[in-house]
Amino acid sequence: MAKKSKLKLGLYWAASCGGCEIAVVELREKILLLDEAADILFWPVAMDFKVKDVEAMPDGHMDVCLFNGAIRTSENEEMAHLLRRKSKVLVAFGSCAYEGCIPGLANLFDKDSILRRVYLEVPTVDNPRGVLPQPITHLPEGEVEIPRLYNTVKTLGQVTDVDYFVPGCPPQPHQIWAVVEAILGGNLPPKGSVVGANEKTVCDECKRLREEKRIKKYYRYHEIIPDAEHCLLEQGIVCAGPATRGGCGALCPQVNQPCRGCYGPPPNVMDQGAALLSAVASVVDANSEEEAARIVGDILDPAGTFYRFGLPASTLHRARLGNR
Ligand code: SF4
Ligand code: SF4
Repeated sequence: MAKKSKLKLGLYWAASCGGCEIAVVELREKILLLDEAADILFWPVAMDFKVKDVEAMPDGHMDVCLFNGAIRTSENEEMAHLLRRKSKVLVAFGSCAYEGCIPGLANLFDKDSILRRVYLEVPTVDNPRGVLPQPITHLPEGEVEIPRLYNTVKTLGQVTDVDYFVPGCPPQPHQIWAVVEAILGGNLPPKGSVVGANEKTVCDECKRLREEKRIKKYYRYHEIIPDAEHCLLEQGIVCAGPATRGGCGALCPQVNQPCRGCYGPPPNVMDQGAALLSAVASVVDANSEEEAARIVGDILDPAGTFYRFGLPASTLHRARLGNR
């Protein structure tokens, strides 16, 4: 009998923190099973692959590419197009590729104000000549070119065609393994599906008691010691469970932390931030507009709270940049 050929797999890291790569390593002993079933053709964070190795592959040569990270620079976008061409199945792997995630909060600013802040203004910076990174630097030896920083962070799906989306910051190892098994078994759902998660919300997976209690105040997490049995939202802590897709097993509420929303919107919800805003408003116990404004005014950093993981993918997409 002919030996079954191994899956040709690629993994790539664009604008992200590296947590998705660590989550792959957290497959632990299962990584040996992955190695048995797949040849890894490209994984620059772990092995010395070069872009020219990918360029030399015939189109569609890789069976699957797990692409993590948002599109923040010209290099990220070039790699997205290259890996799309070279892969039969391209997966937006993790919250940054799927929705923009924390790098996407940069969409509250433009690139010039970010560069100014980081290179000139922060108190720990010593940059008396006010040097800012330049895309091209001329040296006696020749030109040095670095990737261009974009004004707007985009999701992978906003720059190229994506086959599947795996949510999570990072995706949980048991969910990554479920995706690997689905790929190996050829049991993938229709193109465009969210995989490695389920069709419920985090609240549906959470064991805490809900009593439809209303609140008079929202607390920042350090201002309160929450009861370990009851719903955190009903204790005045913003918990994104009602507006977040299930699949992690309500990991954060299990350890007395609110869900931050990293699995993205549940099925049939277009805008996670708007859904969370609605859940947060629904538990407010106010007798007047002023009282309601005071209660929700306790929530500092509303953009970062409601759109922490999904600003680029949301209906807002980014803050307005004047006439640009
Ligand atoms: S809001 Fe948070 S704490 Fe409350 S049930 Fe949902 S996930 Fe659990
Ligand atoms: S509880 Fe929420 S923030 Fe925590 S891992 Fe699950 S989806 Fe992510």
